[in-house]
Amino acid sequence: MKKIYLDYAATTPTDPEVLTAMEPYFFDKFGNASSLHSYGQEAKKALEDSRQIVAESIGAKPEEVVFTSGGTESDNFALLGVAYALEKKGNHIITSVIEHHAISEPAKFLEKRGFKVTYLPVDKNGMVLCEDLKKAITKETILVSIMHANNEIGTLQPIAALAEIAKAKGVYFHTDAVQTFGHIPINVNEQNVDLLSISSHKFYGPKGVGAIYIRKGTRIETFMRGGDQERSRRASTHNIAGIVGCAKAVQLCQKNMKKEIGFQSALRDRLIKEIPAKIGEVRLNGHPTERLPNNVNFSISYIEGESMLLSLDMLGISVSTGSACTSSSLEPSHVLLAIGLDHATAHGSLRITLGRWTKESDIDYLLDKLPRVVQKLRAMSPLYEPGHSKKSSS
Ligand code: PLP
Repeated sequence: MKKIYLDYAATTPTDPEVLTAMEPYFFDKFGNASSLHSYGQEAKKALEDSRQIVAESIGAKPEEVVFTSGGTESDNFALLGVAYALEKKGNHIITSVIEHHAISEPAKFLEKRGFKVTYLPVDKNGMVLCEDLKKAITKETILVSIMHANNEIGTLQPIAALAEIAKAKGVYFHTDAVQTFGHIPINVNEQNVDLLSISSHKFYGPKGVGAIYIRKGTRIETFMRGGDQERSRRASTHNIAGIVGCAKAVQLCQKNMKKEIGFQSALRDRLIKEIPAKIGEVRLNGHPTERLPNNVNFSISYIEGESMLLSLDMLGISVSTGSACTSSSLEPSHVLLAIGLDHATAHGSLRITLGRWTKESDIDYLLDKLPRVVQKLRAMSPLYEPGHSKKSSS
């Protein structure tokens, strides 16, 4: 059966060039970067070369990049690390209602331990408003954390403007750039951020590796204790093969970025135009223009996202409903509820995310199969009568 992967926001396949770059670090060059002998020094060099590559790609200094196990760890480090370092200065953190659980869960954890957290709302396109941030900052605020792009609906936040507001009040600004890094240009100075999280498996690198950018001078408490790796900011033996793979993936993204943005956004715009035209009673979720080049998210009335996902899977097409982490739960996506959808509309959501190996013919195939799937499922829906659709009340 033909197999088409359209779930690049969940994870990306590792680029073969990345795997080639990693391979020696499992065999001949397997050393521990903390060892003093030649094996260790070889690993240490690979580590520092990789750090340089990641740092340069975002306009940072190498010593401002700490390698982690991925986006979740980087996000936890940002929130918990700043909260613990600055708890005597203040106990207020600001984030948004549409963050990934890697932010919202540590935020809830901190709330249980006496911190106050403000969850900024978003508008109907999933955008955080600068005025809301301005109003929310108090004398107690120590950190603002707003994601760069949402993993479900793809909306891009005005990070530079939001960060400027925080900086003007002397408050640290963190962004979860897990969905944007490697896909669109990022510069920590132009965007004015103090902390930024990335995850290698979202940009064709291996899983279980990521990094956090920490601007020089930022006060942050160590998150993992043990060894003195990463200048005592993150203990544990370095995953050299993974880190080398992450850096190679960064280089490939930089090389391909312009071309990929052009190609993917053209396919995205084709989906935005043709899906509603072919299916009807469809709503585009997320911002109409300020969105990731590879993301579309639709609510398709009268049917369940899960049924669509499984029917498409039987035809060899892999897409997602909500985020991969929540799609096994029956709760509607908190992101879709936050942009004002009712439960029924939120349940009928379909996320299609494109990537390096998406072909025009994949989109042709999807555009041929999806309307048939929708027609079949709608025919079974008690809520749907062609031409006289009964509205769901929930
Ligand atoms: N933040 C966002 C926006 C994500 O999309 C994800 C993964 O889906 C994460 C954080 C977690 O990253 P990781 O899978 O590397 O832990």
